[in-house]
Amino acid sequence: MFFRIYILLRIPAGEEAVVDLEKAGVSGIMRLSIKRILFIVLLLAAVLTGAALLGDAVSVFGLQGSLKGRLVALDAGHGGADGGAEGKNGVKEAELNLTLAKKLREELIARGAGVVLTREGMDALGDTKLEDMARRRDIVKDSGADCLVSIHMNKFFDTQVCGPQVFYMAGSEAGKRLAECIQARLNEAAPQQKKRIALTGDYYLLKSVEATAVIVECGFLSNPQEENLLQSSSYQTKLAKAIAGGISDFVSGEAERIPPDGSEE
Ligand SMILES: [Zn+2]
Repeated sequence: MFFRIYILLRIPAGEEAVVDLEKAGVSGIMRLSIKRILFIVLLLAAVLTGAALLGDAVSVFGLQGSLKGRLVALDAGHGGADGGAEGKNGVKEAELNLTLAKKLREELIARGAGVVLTREGMDALGDTKLEDMARRRDIVKDSGADCLVSIHMNKFFDTQVCGPQVFYMAGSEAGKRLAECIQARLNEAAPQQKKRIALTGDYYLLKSVEATAVIVECGFLSNPQEENLLQSSSYQTKLAKAIAGGISDFVSGEAERIPPDGSEE
């Protein structure tokens, strides 16, 4: 950008020549040299070029990762009597899920998205597990959300197993793409060497909503190191940023796939 402006200003301004407007038959008192006119024109061109380039840069940065006009549903898994998985030191999955969902909401709002949460408190959404799950499904459906991210924490008998894992519904191409985008970002954010790939999973919410849906298992509460990590506010923020980044990657990828006339390629 600066190089181009410099070139414009360095264009030779031409011969010094006085234009006498009165002599030329034009009434008025303006007397300007061609050099001065050229200088003003070039300065204007430079300013306009600079502004245009700056405008481009701003719009590029503005669009990068933008989720403007998108509605994302976030589901903090479990709640009420169902605390979900439990860590060795007593931390409950249901609590961590909600903390992470709220952090993720902030990240998504910062990117311009609208966000709907299936639950904001620690209570269940129904008297039975079936009622609770049906209520979550209805909230997502009624919201008209573009995509759904259900937040969970994992548990496994082998306490060495660790790392975030994203699931999507088998047969959902969009679900697979969203899961892969989020998994890639989570792999960057997580400390362990072994990187995971997005997997298919047979989950009620994935199957019962129209929104492009994924389950994000943020890590293993059965692994003592990861249990501690998952409770650290800075790591939770890192995970939230990674998931938001994955959603942004998915949305910009989808925009590229669909041409401006709206027809699928
Ligand atoms: Zn869970």
